[in-house]
Amino acid sequence: MIFHILTIFPDFFQGPFAHGVVKRACDAGLVDIRIHNLRDWTHDRHKTVDDRPFGGGQGMVMKPGPIFQAVETICPERTPARRIVLLSAQGRLFDQAKANRLAAQSELLLICGRYEGVDERVAEHLADEEISIGSYVLSGGELAAAVVVDAVARLVPGVLGNETSAAFESFQDTGHGEGMLDCPHWTRPADFRGWKAPEILLNGNHEDIRQFRKRKALEKTARLRPDLLSDRELAGSGEVPTAHGKIED
Ligand code: SAM
Repeated sequence: MIFHILTIFPDFFQGPFAHGVVKRACDAGLVDIRIHNLRDWTHDRHKTVDDRPFGGGQGMVMKPGPIFQAVETICPERTPARRIVLLSAQGRLFDQAKANRLAAQSELLLICGRYEGVDERVAEHLADEEISIGSYVLSGGELAAAVVVDAVARLVPGVLGNETSAAFESFQDTGHGEGMLDCPHWTRPADFRGWKAPEILLNGNHEDIRQFRKRKALEKTARLRPDLLSDRELAGSGEVPTAHGKIED
C-alpha cells in the first residue's frame, strides 16, 4: 500500500516511521510512505503556502493552489482505490472501522493542514473526506497523519506477520464480540512484587484460557469502555450500569 503525505514539514516524519512495525513493513516493501513537501508546488521566491483569510480575522489560511497542484501531480488519475484525505479537527472521527476501510485502499494521500486551517475548497472539491483523530485542536495535521498511517499500515496484509493478529486487538471483532477491548495480558515473572499472574494462564488448558480471556475482555470493556457494549453484554459482564449506561466506580 502506498501512503503519500503532503506537508510543509517533511522532516517531521523522519521519526515516526523509523521504528517497529511500520519500519519493518517499509523495509519489506509492503508499505511505501512517500513524503511530499508542499512548498515544491509554489511558484514565488518565498515558497508561500498561506495567505490572509477573506473577511478578516486571526491567523493565516493555507492557499488552495499549491495543494490542488500537488495532489493532481501525485495522483493524476482519481480512482476509487486512491483516497484523498484532509486531516482536520472538523472531520469525522478516526476509529478502527475507518482504519479497516482505509487499509483496503491501494493508495492514500493525506493532506496536513497548518495555521488556521486550509481553504475550504480543498475539503469541498479535492479531498474525498476530512478525518479528525480526536475532538481537540492540534497545531498541524502531521501528528494526525502519522497516527492514521500507523493504524492503517499495521492492517495491511502481511505487516503483522500473522494475518490474524490484528483481528484479536481492541476494537476489532475479537471472536468475543464486535469492537470490544483486547483481553489483559501478563508475562514473566509469574509473581512480581507479590502480584501474581492469573494461575489459569499458567496451566496450559487452552479452552480454560480462551474462556478466561473472553471474560476478562468483557469485564475490562465494561469497566473502561461501556459505550462499546450492548446492554445484554453489559449485564453479562457483572458490572452494574447506571442510568447513563456508565459503570459505577
Ligand atoms: N482553525 C481550525 C479549527 O478550529 O478547527 C484548527 C486548525 S489547526 C491549528 C491546523 C491544522 O491542524 C488543521 O488544518 C488540521 O490539518 C490539523 N489538525 C488539528 N487538529 C486536528 C485533529 N484533531 N485531527 C486531525 N487534524 C487536525
